[in-house]
Amino acid sequence: MSRAWLLGLLCAGALALLLGSHEASARPGGGQSYSGGSRSSGGSSSSGSRSSGGGGWSSSGGSSGGSGGGGGDSPVLLLLVLGVCLFVMANGKTRKYFRGQVLEREPEVWSTVRPVPPSARRDLQKIRATDPDFSVISFEDFLQGLYSRVQDARGRGDTSGIAPYLAPALQRAIEQHRGPVARVEAVIVGALEFKRYAGPTAYVPAHQVWVSFDANYTEVLRDGTTRTFWVVEHWRLRRDAQARTRSPEAVAAFNCPSCGAAAGYTNGVCGYCGQKVDEGRFEWSVVEIQTVRKEPRGPGLGHHAPEQGTTLRTISSPTLKGDLEALRARNPSFDLGAVERRLHLIHHELNVGWTAQDWRRARPFTSDPLFQSQVYWMDAYRRAGLINVTENARVVRLEVVAVMQDRWYEALTFRVFATGLDYTVASADRRLVSGSNRQERPFSEYWTLIRSAGVDRPTLDRPNCPNCGAALDVNMAGECKHCESRIISGEFDWVLSRIEQDEAYAG
Ligand SMILES: [Zn+2]
Ligand SMILES: [Zn+2]
Repeated sequence: MSRAWLLGLLCAGALALLLGSHEASARPGGGQSYSGGSRSSGGSSSSGSRSSGGGGWSSSGGSSGGSGGGGGDSPVLLLLVLGVCLFVMANGKTRKYFRGQVLEREPEVWSTVRPVPPSARRDLQKIRATDPDFSVISFEDFLQGLYSRVQDARGRGDTSGIAPYLAPALQRAIEQHRGPVARVEAVIVGALEFKRYAGPTAYVPAHQVWVSFDANYTEVLRDGTTRTFWVVEHWRLRRDAQARTRSPEAVAAFNCPSCGAAAGYTNGVCGYCGQKVDEGRFEWSVVEIQTVRKEPRGPGLGHHAPEQGTTLRTISSPTLKGDLEALRARNPSFDLGAVERRLHLIHHELNVGWTAQDWRRARPFTSDPLFQSQVYWMDAYRRAGLINVTENARVVRLEVVAVMQDRWYEALTFRVFATGLDYTVASADRRLVSGSNRQERPFSEYWTLIRSAGVDRPTLDRPNCPNCGAALDVNMAGECKHCESRIISGEFDWVLSRIEQDEAYAG
């Protein structure tokens, strides 16, 4: 056994240990239990926000809660070990062990090995075995909508309108524990992260999904006072194995999941079609809600953690080439160059809007879950009296990495290499709080754009309505003020649906 080989082995061991400890620190308790901190695994696989501190979307602050804390030293250590390992590998005879993983496109020495992280979101694709119409994009829209409706029902002490979507015991609990609350307002889901998926078994003939929500809302009490909370909630949902996913429009209506009527329910039976629709027979039903955190204080902000995964090898789908060809065959007008130019535009608009804390710039280009995530973090900064400035933010390079398709949506994922100044100032006096206003900060993220399946229209790379062509002017719901079409639905053009950190991207 050569010395290099031995060294390599030792390094691999150390690396595994470190990776293990890093992961553990990000998710204390591990396994199916959730991490306690606000956004400890935050953003990592949620639709939306940037977790790893720093560069852009939501935040520097995101990471200070959990993974950032744990990640303070270990990423540096990790990189050191990685560097040493790769040095050894590159110089020893063991290089062949890394063949195929050594980057072909990236010039950096240590941008190689990284196990693709486990992903409950990816596991959800297994649902398509019994339900080919399942769409994780549509499911996330549904969950975000349901979250707001459950909070609204809690505020009013009345769950009857959403009976099919809540287990009976949960309906009673919500109605009985209303306390002094008169209503719940301004519900914003900042992050939604799948924690675990379990498939149907002989004992539980249902799909089960565990989801973590980061949210904020305002409670209006009976005496008229209001209080705003930042919460983390863990939900478990189930749906019978034989149920089929309905169209995104049908799902968004939150009516009877069997017949689509808004007729009301008695003991879980629809007043129109007479079907028993609760307990997950036709649609996902929440069976458990755990409030892990509920605090008047927002997430910690104004802390810049170092970028973690910028030099990691790009994770590309092994079927990318064929998938792109199939996409072109489905949509003859598809033009990858135009989509890339649109992505540049979206990146620019999001950054300008982010720094100005103006949601209107992001709204025409972002799906509902991602938009809410933007608003959540803008709100967090505003309430903390801080502004996260992303100055001269620009895309340096784009790599298309994956094409995905389900019954309702097409999705295109890019690795986005970008740079720009990234620092946080106090809004009162513009005093620098964290980051550097002199040195640019390069980083990379994975951005996923979506469009409704079957749409074959030219892609727009100008800030105009993709339906009527007017200069962009949209309301909070993403409807063009000129033609009133909901331009963020994906039926008109590609919209941004996810931003994932390079170190967290799971393919
Ligand atoms: Zn019905
Ligand atoms: Zn329009």
